[in-house]
Amino acid sequence: MARSNPKRKKRGNVYDRHSRNKWLRSPEAGFGGNGETVPCTMCGTVLTEKTVEADRILAGDSYAHWNIRPACRPCNASRGNKPVNVEIAALLDDPSVPYEDIQALVHAQYMERTGQFSLIAS
Ligand SMILES: [Zn+2]
Repeated sequence: MARSNPKRKKRGNVYDRHSRNKWLRSPEAGFGGNGETVPCTMCGTVLTEKTVEADRILAGDSYAHWNIRPACRPCNASRGNKPVNVEIAALLDDPSVPYEDIQALVHAQYMERTGQFSLIAS
């Protein structure tokens, strides 16, 4: 069974959501966005400001940049709380792996994708 962070983070206010939406579509985020549109990470549908959603890589964890990726509503809704990929899913299923190590892996992937440094705690 997949574990999730007990400290469940909130979605934040409308300004936070607008800021995330804009970042997900930006080239800096590393998802192939051009500032206006970005493909859904799972199905490739081209998303706009109106349709892009922030899908959390580690469900139940932070909405900070390191843990979000662009998704269309159907993909975001159908994924539910399932983990993002087989590597992370396997780690979440292994009780001997500390949750902090899984966060660190997602964080490392973020830094590799964006070339940006960011604190896990943010
Ligand atoms: Zn999709």
